[in-house]
Amino acid sequence: MELLRPSSVEEASALLGEDTRPLAGGTELVPLVREGIVRAERLVALRGLVPRGVSGTTIGAATTLAELERDDQIPEALREACRLAASPQLRAMSTLGGNLLQATRCWYWRLRFPCFLHGGDECHAREGEHREHAILGNERCASAHPSDPAATLLALGATLRTTQRELPVAELFRLPTEDDRSTTTLAPDELILELDVPPADSSTYLKAMDRKAFAFALVGVAAVRRGADVRVALAGVAPVPWLLGADGLGGATPLPGTAYKVELAEALVARARTAVGAPDSHRPG
Ligand SMILES: Cc1cc2nc3c(=O)[nH]c(=O)nc-3n(C[C@H](O)[C@H](O)[C@H](O)COP(=O)(O)OP(=O)(O)OC[C@H]3O[C@@H](n4cnc5c(N)ncnc54)[C@H](O)[C@@H]3O)c2cc1C
Ligand code: SF4
Repeated sequence: MELLRPSSVEEASALLGEDTRPLAGGTELVPLVREGIVRAERLVALRGLVPRGVSGTTIGAATTLAELERDDQIPEALREACRLAASPQLRAMSTLGGNLLQATRCWYWRLRFPCFLHGGDECHAREGEHREHAILGNERCASAHPSDPAATLLALGATLRTTQRELPVAELFRLPTEDDRSTTTLAPDELILELDVPPADSSTYLKAMDRKAFAFALVGVAAVRRGADVRVALAGVAPVPWLLGADGLGGATPLPGTAYKVELAEALVARARTAVGAPDSHRPG
């Protein structure tokens, strides 16, 4: 294993490829490489290259979750999503860019079962243990996206600047298909540089967990209000962060062990809408 330390983002991008991967805080990538789930012969250190810090509505992708949780320039929902993620030690190392690109926590995937997401034909979670899994978009892969900040940035309508393009956060994520099993649209040699996060009138992030701290979201709900417009997005309910449409959770397709998540999500969505002062949130019934 080699650690490469290029001196510019351009040099870093040029080095990237199948066996050469970008390394930020390493909290996700290093264990995956160590366990042989991700193949890498070289890691490219991004420290000092990718922007770090908050300036107005712009957040550098190398900003850590610990820095974001206490920065009052950013919307409250994002601060809260960062504060509720992982542990203080992990948040001190974890970058926002790395957080968006973290892999599924599905244990079948992490134990290297030859499942659909690994290129196989079958989703082992569907017939197996799936209490933490998805209730939406789960036809092929029933994993639940673990990132609290990703759902929040989706609700906030944030955009990303990469080394190759600008795109809404919504377009960073994709459901895996027969032809392409990846859950992001990022090219192997593309780096996330910055995010633009427009301000909100009011925003919140609520997270249901098995423990009060240091646990992934069973369901996470971000609500963002601008005027009378309210956007709601969820973590822990689909293989990608999920923007709630007009039908709410009407299209949910829970597995036997995840049916409880529909009720949980409905309750959190209602609570989050009330918290941001959604125009219809106090309607009786
Ligand atoms: C025990 C544990 C509990 C956790 N709990 C939570 C939780 O509750 N909620 C939550 O949201 N997250 C949670 N996390 C995830 C954690 O927040 C991520 O591991 C962390 O944010 C990843 O950031 P990093 O800088 O360490 O990324 P790295 O590990 O360095 O990289 C992660 C991935 O992103 C790629 N990458 C990194 N930066 C860039 C970039 N700028 N451009 C392109 N690619 C890049 C890497 O190549 C790699 O594929 C938990 C993690 C652990 C280990
Ligand atoms: S939920 Fe996805 S990652 Fe988990 S076993 Fe099924 S296909 Fe694999």
